[in-house]
Amino acid sequence: MTESSMPSRQHAVVIGGSMAGLLAARVLADHFARVTIIERDQFPADPAFRPGVPQGRHLHVLLERGQQLLEQYLPGFTKSLLARGGYAYDFIEEVRLNAAGHWTPQYRGDIPFFSASRNLVEWVVRQAVLARPEITAMTKHDAVELLASPDKRRVMGVRVRERDGQADSPLTDVAADLVVDASGRHSRMPEWLRMLGYQAPPETVIDPHLGYSTRLYKPHADFTPNWKTLYLMMNPPNILQGGVITVVEGGNWLVTLSGYGEHAPPTDEAGFVAFAQGLPFPDIAEAIAHADPQGSVYGYRDTSNQLRHYERLHRMPDGLLVTGDAFAAFDPVYGQGMSTAAIGADVLARQLQRRRDPALHGLWRDFHRAMAQATATAWQLSTSGDVTVPGVTGGKPSLMERVQNAYLRRILRIIPRMKRAQLTFTRVVNMTEPPTALFHPAIFLRAMLAWK
Ligand SMILES: Cc1cc2nc3c(=O)[nH]c(=O)nc-3n(C[C@H](O)[C@H](O)[C@H](O)COP(=O)(O)OP(=O)(O)OC[C@H]3O[C@@H](n4cnc5c(N)ncnc54)[C@H](O)[C@@H]3O)c2cc1C
Repeated sequence: MTESSMPSRQHAVVIGGSMAGLLAARVLADHFARVTIIERDQFPADPAFRPGVPQGRHLHVLLERGQQLLEQYLPGFTKSLLARGGYAYDFIEEVRLNAAGHWTPQYRGDIPFFSASRNLVEWVVRQAVLARPEITAMTKHDAVELLASPDKRRVMGVRVRERDGQADSPLTDVAADLVVDASGRHSRMPEWLRMLGYQAPPETVIDPHLGYSTRLYKPHADFTPNWKTLYLMMNPPNILQGGVITVVEGGNWLVTLSGYGEHAPPTDEAGFVAFAQGLPFPDIAEAIAHADPQGSVYGYRDTSNQLRHYERLHRMPDGLLVTGDAFAAFDPVYGQGMSTAAIGADVLARQLQRRRDPALHGLWRDFHRAMAQATATAWQLSTSGDVTVPGVTGGKPSLMERVQNAYLRRILRIIPRMKRAQLTFTRVVNMTEPPTALFHPAIFLRAMLAWK
């Protein structure tokens, strides 16, 4: 490598301009002179669905930990979300939650809950990120392969193809000192690494075969429930169907029904209503009887837990990192993906702050190890229940998971009667407290004594 081609902190490229990519770009802008986001979609001017994020039609919960990080890296995020029609309210008081067949008490709990469409959350983030002068977006371009140094020890950029519908669209090489892959759960990075002579990361996939069906409704003005979100939680292996209604922009309701395997909800209109009517509690069906549908029913099945173990690789080229769903993607019922994307950006910020060498030698090793640690709790939360779903593929409950699940069932049993357990559980789910908080002696004792 000649002196003039030595990597510096001039230009970083991010593949994918969704939550993880936008947030990575925001962090990189503090450390690189220029950041380019390569995104295959055209970004819509307003909050709207786009094909590169097909899950965008479905209910997306923004956990408190995610909101805190978004506010930290994009000050004013929450205000902008609310100004554009999002909602913030008290989790305990206004989320009517049925956990393991029991309704949880509603009272002021001072744990915030945010609801908005996925399209709005991403739009607010995108507006703030693209306002940074260092960041530009190269939209309607597909990243098609990595560019590497002749000895393949460093990634030097990305080759992109314009997305204009022509198979022979011109290829362009975009040089970069650092490439961050945030292209989601179908990332082609394992294949691109193989093309450069590296091993692909080992993968863990635990698939409980979850299906979603979602429809937007407008509630009748005279229907005034005591909730802004109504949630019938699934609880495998016993309760394999559930649903959520949450208020989104314009006072509309996003209604998402869910089920594992053969219990997944249908996507036709009559089947959607019948599924809601067949749930163990009638509340969702009763609510949608007081509302008018605003569009089609949309289904979604691409929901497995998928972990690519980049942290286990012994060799990787310098100048390359993987984040977001491309690194770890989760069963969406636990609402963790966007927050984990924000956690990934936070990991990146911390790693870059510690580094002085412009070449960032070996950053991939430290970054991916830190990512594996930072996503471990989310993985544990989403897979420990999923491994008990009948028909799950890729995992079976370990002894530890059996013990944890038995304990969690006891926690769910005492929540209706113990405020402290309810608040702690809610904070754990929101990633603002670690799961170990559920083992506080007062909660532990009560859980152990819980019989029914
Ligand atoms: C049904 C469903 C419901 C969900 N519900 C929740 C929820 O309640 N709460 C929550 O926090 N999370 C939820 N998630 C997860 C959440 O959507 C993701 O975790 C989040 O979007 C972060 O993903 P990402 O940015 O890594 O990837 P994605 O959002 O998948 O985005 C990848 C981006 O990369 C672009 N791209 C892909 N390949 C290329 C390429 N070769 N070149 C250029 N661009 C490319 C795509 O167009 C897209 O913009 C849900 C997911 C699903 C499937």
